[in-house]
Amino acid sequence: MTTDEPIQGEPVEPVGPKPKRRQLRPLPGLSAEDFRHPQDAIATDTLKRIPGFDKVVTKILEYGLERLAYVDNLASNLRVTPTMFGRLHKSLQWGCKILDLPEPEMYVTMNPLPNAWTFGQTKPFVTVTSGLIDLLSDEELFFVIGHELGHIKAGHVLYGTMARNIAAIIEMIGQATLGIGAMLGQSLVYALLEWYRAAELTCDRAAMLCVQDIEPARNTFMKLAGGNSRMAADMDRDEFLRQVAAFEDVDRSALNKAYKVFLTSQRSHPFAMQRAKEVERWLDGGYQDVMKLRARPL
Ligand SMILES: [Zn+2]
Repeated sequence: MTTDEPIQGEPVEPVGPKPKRRQLRPLPGLSAEDFRHPQDAIATDTLKRIPGFDKVVTKILEYGLERLAYVDNLASNLRVTPTMFGRLHKSLQWGCKILDLPEPEMYVTMNPLPNAWTFGQTKPFVTVTSGLIDLLSDEELFFVIGHELGHIKAGHVLYGTMARNIAAIIEMIGQATLGIGAMLGQSLVYALLEWYRAAELTCDRAAMLCVQDIEPARNTFMKLAGGNSRMAADMDRDEFLRQVAAFEDVDRSALNKAYKVFLTSQRSHPFAMQRAKEVERWLDGGYQDVMKLRARPL
């Protein structure tokens, strides 16, 4: 036994750089319009103008999906509280404080796929999967929680639920309303997909306002694109940024088709590269303006 070995039971300092500590600045009085992506506003308007759209929304509300989801959460998932996943709960509290938003319930569900979603139009709640927790660091998780809170702040929850479940909803409404669903089908699907893409960009901005640092944002997008916990140390940030730059040249019509496939196959957070690019672009302009306007001085 050598003398520099730690005595058994004595705490050992972790090796490597200590995580940097930033003082997060709350944004009292923050409005969703401070960070809403312009495409989100346009797409929301288009969606509302589709004939029959209001009928679809009313039908969805009638089905009581929110209540069902609440019962499912209570029955199957773990609710995040100060004592159950306390670190997640702190992130939730901080996210709400920064975005100036009442605290929703949050749940963790057993699912190896990294994912998060927000549901419930009158009493919204956030769900994150166990796979997401395994993949991301605490700061990156905070970024994702900030993104989900952004959906609540920006009033996205109902349409977001529709976008993620559009195939099932059209089938359900089609059967219930003698073909109204089938008739609405395609135009509604395309408008919803367009809207969903834009809504995601708005919420990445909300997430940026929460973490107040570009690193967790970049790392989250990189990990959502292809990350894994076993080779986390082998991921290269600069390589990722080069890939983001290469994405600029992508063919738009191919992108539209791909979104349709991804969204209808339940992939709820599409295209890490586009999201990364949009956040980087916002950082020097809009982000600074919001911080100047709303951030409480340190
Ligand atoms: Zn989202």
